Amino acid sequence: MKIALFIPPLTQINTPYPATAYLKGFLKTTLYQDIFQADLGLELILAIFNKKNIAQLFDEAALKPNLSKNITNILQLRHRYEFCIDTVIQFLQNKNPTLAHKICGSDYLPQASRFNALNDDIEWLFGSMGIHDRAKMLCTLFMEDIGDLIVEAICPYFGFSRYAEDIARSATSFSPILTQLEAPNNTLDNILIALLDKHILSEQPDLVILTIPFPGNVFGAFKAGQHIKNNYPHIKVSMGGGFPNTELRSLADARVFDFTDFISLDDGEKPLLNLLEFLDGKRDLSQLKRTFIRENNTVKYINGCTSPDIAHSNSGTPDYTGLLLDRYISMLEMANPMHRLWSDGRWNKLTVAHGCYWKKCSFCDISLDYIGRYEPASAVVLADKIETIIAQTGTTGFHFVDEAAPPLVLRDLALEILHRKLDISWWANIRFEKTFSNDLCTLLAASGCIAVTGGLEVASDRLLEMMEKGVSVQQVAQVANHFTQSGIMVHAYLMYGFPTQTAQETIDSLEVVRQLFEAGALQSAFWHRFSMTAHSPVGLNPDKYHVIKIGPDEGTFANNDLVHDDPKGGDHDLYAEGLRTSLYNFMMANCLDWPVHDWFDFKTPKTKLPFNLIQKHIAETTGNDNEKLKYKIIWLGNPPEFIPQGKNTKVEIESGNGKLSTKMDTTSAQFIKKQLLKTLTSPKSLLTLNELLEHYTQETSFPKELLLYSETWKSLRASGLLLIRF
Ligand code: SF4
Repeated sequence: MKIALFIPPLTQINTPYPATAYLKGFLKTTLYQDIFQADLGLELILAIFNKKNIAQLFDEAALKPNLSKNITNILQLRHRYEFCIDTVIQFLQNKNPTLAHKICGSDYLPQASRFNALNDDIEWLFGSMGIHDRAKMLCTLFMEDIGDLIVEAICPYFGFSRYAEDIARSATSFSPILTQLEAPNNTLDNILIALLDKHILSEQPDLVILTIPFPGNVFGAFKAGQHIKNNYPHIKVSMGGGFPNTELRSLADARVFDFTDFISLDDGEKPLLNLLEFLDGKRDLSQLKRTFIRENNTVKYINGCTSPDIAHSNSGTPDYTGLLLDRYISMLEMANPMHRLWSDGRWNKLTVAHGCYWKKCSFCDISLDYIGRYEPASAVVLADKIETIIAQTGTTGFHFVDEAAPPLVLRDLALEILHRKLDISWWANIRFEKTFSNDLCTLLAASGCIAVTGGLEVASDRLLEMMEKGVSVQQVAQVANHFTQSGIMVHAYLMYGFPTQTAQETIDSLEVVRQLFEAGALQSAFWHRFSMTAHSPVGLNPDKYHVIKIGPDEGTFANNDLVHDDPKGGDHDLYAEGLRTSLYNFMMANCLDWPVHDWFDFKTPKTKLPFNLIQKHIAETTGNDNEKLKYKIIWLGNPPEFIPQGKNTKVEIESGNGKLSTKMDTTSAQFIKKQLLKTLTSPKSLLTLNELLEHYTQETSFPKELLLYSETWKSLRASGLLLIRF
């Protein structure tokens, strides 16, 4: 059976959304090996942004009446856009870096309204940016100008990482989507359909799988499903992914099945395997897993398969083959080095553990399988996958896309990466939990960790407790500082508008964020407005959180986003703009000394927090080595030099801060020399500090304190001797 896996438009364009690669990797472990995959989103963008097609779009746009001054200006410069477009795309695909010089030439790129953002601040920033980054940012503005033309004159639903998102967002009824699907195709729809035809005619699939992670690719998926059902009725269509998992759990509109035959929920591997067996005549329809179908013009949910889901460690290695890996497009909207990770560069995506090990936060969908079922993979399995993916894609950057990667698995993975001498870069979502000590962060950095993202949410201890986040402001400050001190960038997910949040708490939360940036513990952040979802503890029990659910009535299509009233809270919407603007500036290291109430053009409370709250938290100590006797010893430093000097030995170690030189008795020095050689031969043979000190006493007859409080021990600790909790 031939299976075609498609990512419908539009998700990111710098890196493939991993769902089809995950499913392809899994299917490779089964009997079903004839698999094709394509990212229709990327292909749509490539089909629009090239010399030939952009000329057609300009022709079409020129016929539209009442265009704005900005779009008229772009049309007047169309020959420049047509001239530059292939160069720009090639450059954004990282194919010809020397083009940077040409692109940065003052007259090369045509400029429309997006270039107005090149205010003094950004021009100043360019001074500290390399020419490559500067060119990338200019190309991004050039692309966004063309994007504005598409939105105004061709297709109002276009965005670079989303398509017709507003139609699908909070759509309790399928009717608005249906109306749009029944409207005549616009030019972009026609390009999508031509791409789909090309693949279907060349691959001749029996089953098409459409992954729908976000509202921004729902319409693209249904448009593809519509075309297949109308033109290739022999092909079966199935949909799944994050959007159905969270939004379509109570699906009851049979019209949806004019566009697809099946919609499955939660992990896709087992439902897909069952579906293939059913289509092969080896399984009864009633034995499908978590799958909606249409029967007698009503929606039926089938979950007759009693065998469990595929274990995370048996789900195969993501297989990216077939995707146009060298044609993804990196954009640079902001020079902030952490923020750009999302849009710049192609990352191999991998999941360390299924679900979240914490699964308590009251705003999170913890009642759903993708959060609630925690199942880690072993470090060995993960490192094997990393090696396979590097061989497959030729790139060594990884994004671990867990909801919250478990620190102890990250620890073991870091050791395995070091043990195998894998030279990779990786970043991951984490919780700011205290397990991330200075030493663990140093270990993660040594294994290639360049950045972490984590939820600080509302930076208020009262609200963090109410949301059962399991962290405090103090802990976040300390952990974020551990990461940044280890050279790992930190991005915080921030929230405002949590139930009962007062204006004072919003201002104080912003003050915490300001101080974190000022202390260098945060490099980037993003404010999300709290949203009440049906599957979160707040949505399931609004009374407990003092909010009132006021809508919407349950519909027959997407049911997850709820509207609520927060009688005890402040006017949250009022603060949105000030929070956004201040954060943008903090990320550019601007105005960090402004009082936070100055960011709002209305009267707000002043912060009640001390100006040095975060510095104080960071300065608080977290214990000394004597309290870490059960921790294991890892040596990451350079080999020390042992130079005999009479009865003593000089121990010289090259550290990040220059050469550290200490003296100790020769017996102790010999002991250290022997032990350091052992520490990283194998993760399994690591000694605890207590074991090391006992060996020391046995072998030298000296008290353990002689080693533990020596200057040499201090210099070893400062230059790569880690104590890690197991
Ligand atoms: S918000 Fe993050 S840490 Fe909290 S339960 Fe959800 S996934 Fe886990």
